[in-house]
Amino acid sequence: MTTFLGQPFDEIFFAKKIEKMLEHGSMNDETLDFLAHYATWALHSKEGQLVHKNDIIFKMPTLVQFDQLIPFEDVEEQGVLKKYIPDAKARDGFHYPDEGLTDKEAFDAASYCVKCHPQGKDSCSKGMRDTEGKNKINPLGNVLSGCPLKQKISEMMVMYEQGYTLGALSIVMIDNPLLAMTGYRICNDCMKGCIFQKQDPVNVPGVESTVLRNILHLPKGFEIYSLLTRWNPLKSANFIESPIQKKSVLVVGLGPAGIALSYYLLRAGFHVVAIDGTKIERLSERWVGSCSKPLDFDPVVDVSDVFDDLESRVIQGFGGVMEYGITVRWDKNLLTLMRLVLERHQHFRLYDGVRFGGTIGFQEARDLGVDHVAFCVGAGEPKKPLIHNVFSKGIRFASDFLMSLQLTGAYKKESYVNMDIELPLIVLGAGLTAIDTATEALAYYPRLVERFYQTYQKLVEKIGETRIQACWNEEERERGMRYIE
Ligand code: SF4
Repeated sequence: MTTFLGQPFDEIFFAKKIEKMLEHGSMNDETLDFLAHYATWALHSKEGQLVHKNDIIFKMPTLVQFDQLIPFEDVEEQGVLKKYIPDAKARDGFHYPDEGLTDKEAFDAASYCVKCHPQGKDSCSKGMRDTEGKNKINPLGNVLSGCPLKQKISEMMVMYEQGYTLGALSIVMIDNPLLAMTGYRICNDCMKGCIFQKQDPVNVPGVESTVLRNILHLPKGFEIYSLLTRWNPLKSANFIESPIQKKSVLVVGLGPAGIALSYYLLRAGFHVVAIDGTKIERLSERWVGSCSKPLDFDPVVDVSDVFDDLESRVIQGFGGVMEYGITVRWDKNLLTLMRLVLERHQHFRLYDGVRFGGTIGFQEARDLGVDHVAFCVGAGEPKKPLIHNVFSKGIRFASDFLMSLQLTGAYKKESYVNMDIELPLIVLGAGLTAIDTATEALAYYPRLVERFYQTYQKLVEKIGETRIQACWNEEERERGMRYIE
């Protein structure tokens, strides 16, 4: 192939060369034969797939096997059958592990989409119906109801494929103005509902998040997004906010529901006062102005100015489950964008460390002039499973584990907080919380051992091994010695 191209393989160069040959009529039988053989090798042989694993040109949609959605390989170790994912990427601590689809991959997904909306068959958005008009159910029992927001996905794909990224974003934002909180690694009802049920569905969340990312990374890209949250000319109704009303709403809880409700209430012309029980870090006045000069803020020219490395990012306290309950599979910096959208609004106020029913109640809220109270705290309800000895040592609730890890900052390299876990660890369940727990535990455990060893070394220098180990009980000795080894 290098001889044919006159340079190492590059898929864009390759595609352009073939295009030119076809245009100029210089493609002969011999070249066609060579290309067919090469494509067969690249597509079907293990070696060819490995050489072209990062290229999209030699990839074909694969058949969906519902009983094998993840390509596990069985390996027997010490008499135990284990499931491995070949080529799984190792996670690097608590950094954001990837940036989503590349532009090439997103464009490939948009080209793969058949744009079903002209026929009204865009089941990714509207859901897939049977002859009685009910939503179909796939072999895994998932109801194929499509996008809960009925986002105009097919229309977005048309615009994106033609290179109109801002047009694509504006179309998404007709139904989903808060798309910074959706998309890649957050939701996939659209994919489940895609017309391709027997082969790979279109990676809609990946395309949606790429559209947003590409706009955000333009100079003043966040301001473009922010403007569209306030004024979207593509909306046929309510394209600007309603005139301000005299009513005010107290929104209790600033998780995803509280953020979304606050946004829609502001659009409907309400004054919104939002409270949250946790401590929420202040945003710099540079981005949101001050109490005395709320409109005096700088535009965000480069979005990376408000983004941080997730490994060292200060936990903001804003976003509820999106901040504490999920892992670095999602870029939590996007929550900062939501804050900017809300906190720059002149009719929005946020108060942290305030608990409804403790710091404030209905009467106090009424006395302060609040007309309505909206509770957005549903996910926080404690659930105690009916299992004997459920609070025994070594047993944790997955949600508590994730929340403590994030809240205490124990996952950070420089943290002094020690959250005790031990491997092997058994996670019961296979939902998102279970998977997050398993991945976080695997990333955190080496950090725990490292931190123990570094502290141990320092203490050995100061007071010596014998005095340290004299304080250990039997269990601590076993673990300590294992960590040191
Ligand atoms: S994502 Fe799937 S269902 Fe939606 S328009 Fe594209 S091909 Fe059709």
